Amino acid sequence: MTTSVSTPASLKDRVFNLVPPAMIAMVLLFWAYAPKAVTDYPWTLIVTSSAIVIIVLLLEFVHERHQGWRMNRQEFFTDLFYVVLSATVIAWLSKTLAEDPLLAAKAAMGLSTQWMAQVPWLVQVLMVIVILEFGQYWMHRLMHNVTPFWLTHAPHHHLTQLNAAKGAVGNPIELFLISLSVLALFDFDITALFAGLNTLNVISTFAHANVKSDPPIWYSFFFTTIRHHSLHHSTDYEATRCNYGNSLILLDRIFGTYREGEGVLVGQDERRRLSIWEQTVFPFVPLIERIKARRSVEPAPPPTRVSGAPASDGGPAAA
Ligand SMILES: [Zn+2]
Ligand SMILES: [Zn+2]
Repeated sequence: MTTSVSTPASLKDRVFNLVPPAMIAMVLLFWAYAPKAVTDYPWTLIVTSSAIVIIVLLLEFVHERHQGWRMNRQEFFTDLFYVVLSATVIAWLSKTLAEDPLLAAKAAMGLSTQWMAQVPWLVQVLMVIVILEFGQYWMHRLMHNVTPFWLTHAPHHHLTQLNAAKGAVGNPIELFLISLSVLALFDFDITALFAGLNTLNVISTFAHANVKSDPPIWYSFFFTTIRHHSLHHSTDYEATRCNYGNSLILLDRIFGTYREGEGVLVGQDERRRLSIWEQTVFPFVPLIERIKARRSVEPAPPPTRVSGAPASDGGPAAA
C-alpha cells in the first residue's frame, strides 16, 4: 500500500477533478437538445449508458488513482459479464416482476400524473434522481442491517479493487433488489427520465472508478465520489457502515450516515476475491452448511441386511 504525500494538485489533477461535473453537463445538454429522432431511437439509452462506462474505463488508464486497482483480464471479463447480465436478465426481471405490475396497478386505479409534463424539464430530471436514489439508499442501508439482505449484498463488498463497471458486480438477487423503483408511477418526459438515469450512471460509475478525480465540494456535497464510496468498501467493518448513497450522498448527510474518509485497501474476509459462481451461491452458503452439519450429526441409517451377513450396527462390513 502506498501512502500518498499531500502535494499541490497538478494541472492534470485539477482538470480531472472537473471531469465528472463536465460529463453530467454533457449528458443534460444531450438529452435536452439532441434531435428527437436521436432521443426517440430505442437504442440511444443503451448507447449512452455504455459510452459513459467505456469513457470512464479509458480514463482509468489516463489518470490512475491506485496502482493496486489496475484493470486486468480477469477483472475486465468479470465486470463485462455483470454489465451484460444487468442489461439483459436483471433488466427483464425488473420490468416483468416489478415495473409491469406497477403500471398495471396504476392503470387499474386510474392513477395518472399527466401534470408531470408541466413541470420544468430540469426539475423532472432532479425528481428522477431523488426518487430513484431515495429508494436505493434505504435498500442499501437495509442490506447492511438485516442478515438475509446482507447475504445478497456481501459479494459486492468482496470486491478487492474498484473500477468503472464494478457498480454492476454483485449477487444477482442483490442486482434485482437494487434495480427496483417506483419511477414507473410517474409520467416523466422520456428525455428527462433518460437524462436522470444517465446522470446517475455518470456519478455511480465515477464512484467506483480507479480514476484520480476528486470533484470540488459543490459536487461532492451532493453526489457520491470514489473518495466516500471507497471508504464504504474498505476492509474495516465499522468504516463500511456509512455512505450508503449510491449516487446521492446528500441522503447520508440528511439521515446521519455520512462519514468523511477514503479507503485504499478494499474487500473483506481477508480480502478474498469471489468467483462469479461463488458470488451467485453466496446467500445460500449458510443454509447449505447448516444442512450439511445436520446430516453429519444425524445417526447413520441402519445398514441394509444382506442375507447371510451378521445383523451388526456398524463395524466394517465383511466383504
Ligand atoms: Zn454496501
Ligand atoms: Zn460499491
